[in-house]
Amino acid sequence: MDVLPRPTSTTGKLTARATKYMDEFMNGLIQRNPGEPEFIQAVREVAESLVPYVLEHPKYEEAEILQRITEPDRIVSFRVCWEDDQGRIQVNRAWRVQFNNSIGPYKGGMRFHPSVNQGILKFLGFEQVFKNSLTGLPMGGAKGGSNFDPKGRSDREVMRFCHSLMTELHRHIGPDTDVPAGDIGVGSREISYMFGQYKRLENAFKGAMTGKGLSYGGSLVRKESTGYGCVLFARNMLQHKGEDLAGKTCTVSGSGNVSIYAAEKAIEIGAKVVTLSDSSGFVHDPDGVDAEKLEFVKDLKEIRRGRIAEYAERFPSATYHDKVRPWGVPCDIALPCATQNELNAEDARNLLKNGVQCVSEGANMPATLDAAHAFVEAGVLFGPGKAANAGGVAVSGLEQSQNALRLSWSREEVLRRLEGIMNNIHAKCVEHGTREDGSVHYVRGANIAGFVKVADVMAAYGIL
Ligand code: NDP
Repeated sequence: MDVLPRPTSTTGKLTARATKYMDEFMNGLIQRNPGEPEFIQAVREVAESLVPYVLEHPKYEEAEILQRITEPDRIVSFRVCWEDDQGRIQVNRAWRVQFNNSIGPYKGGMRFHPSVNQGILKFLGFEQVFKNSLTGLPMGGAKGGSNFDPKGRSDREVMRFCHSLMTELHRHIGPDTDVPAGDIGVGSREISYMFGQYKRLENAFKGAMTGKGLSYGGSLVRKESTGYGCVLFARNMLQHKGEDLAGKTCTVSGSGNVSIYAAEKAIEIGAKVVTLSDSSGFVHDPDGVDAEKLEFVKDLKEIRRGRIAEYAERFPSATYHDKVRPWGVPCDIALPCATQNELNAEDARNLLKNGVQCVSEGANMPATLDAAHAFVEAGVLFGPGKAANAGGVAVSGLEQSQNALRLSWSREEVLRRLEGIMNNIHAKCVEHGTREDGSVHYVRGANIAGFVKVADVMAAYGIL
């Protein structure tokens, strides 16, 4: 039987009983989910924290919560046909993974990227269950997307694709059922096209999506919320250790929605951001990205949909490094904000060698399991995505509240609530993750805190 390496560092030594439970649990999972390495990786990371916890709390073991919480409620898979600008018929595949709605309607983004498959969406949906629970808001976990690649497509092509996708998806979503949002490849343009078609098909204006434009039910700060939240979480981790973010050097990966606003918040707090990247390479600006340079990046990425290499053409202080990731650049704080598994064990070794103190995951699972273990073992503050990037879905939850109230809160109000939620998430991680020496194991803290709320409700419902 194929047994993947045993958990070690994030949980410390497992007892013989926990090891046996973990092996049996993971082997069953691997057999039931062939060809889904990202999903298996995400479950393994969570199981490393939860298996010892579940064994210490027999009510969860008896209710088989781990086995149930790793099986999605349902997966909708469908064909999306649309016509390109040359009149050719294009066929894409799309999914909605409705993972768990124990504590509220399903909630999670839609991803449009050629790499999207069912396994990746299951990993993202699974993570979302824990993340949404951590926010303290009544939201279940889901994720969706398509292997459609918006890059290089005209606006009209993107529109036809989004309308066609929603023609099927609309029957599976709704404000009390499932509320999709954006993710990689799905920004305000795609949300507008999808929401417009939803509204038309339902003949009703309902808050069935978040990330909407401000003039049709969107929330202030939603666009900035994931990146801002990621930096606020890093600041919380540092402050808990008696350190400050101001004056620190940060590397940021990606140059999309999360990265841009993580950089913006870090700069606002007084840190120096020295890198940005995209899937082609990264730019290194030793002088730091300032507010003015960031405006250039916003225009480049949000409006012109250009490549980050142009940053180095525009600003002579910067150099562009083709096909390289930014993790070799010395920094105090690393903010991986692009995609899953973008920071591996070798990258972690480089960061550690250069003295990194804190890693806050803006993206979902950007660090491989080995890299995460390396950070935790080295005593680096390591904020896992399900805690550190929960600000985005938190403000999506606030958007739902505003829609239900038919009100729009001010920017200050939403920022205040976002900061409060990130502080609460940090406090929950501290509550469940503090070791005997007073240091905090944020992975364990986030996994257990996210789990307990959902698991207790699942148990209360009986055998479902
Ligand atoms: P965007 O599409 O806005 O930006 C993604 C960025 O990552 C781009 O710079 C993109 O470069 C880069 N990227 C994508 N794939 C790769 C790859 N394989 N290798 C290197 N770089 C890559 O997405 P978001 O900013 O919205 O999302 C980024 C991450 O944050 C994802 O993991 C997402 O799940 C997570 N997240 C997002 C939230 C949100 O509110 N948007 C909420 C919580 C988590 P290129 O342009 O070349 O493709």
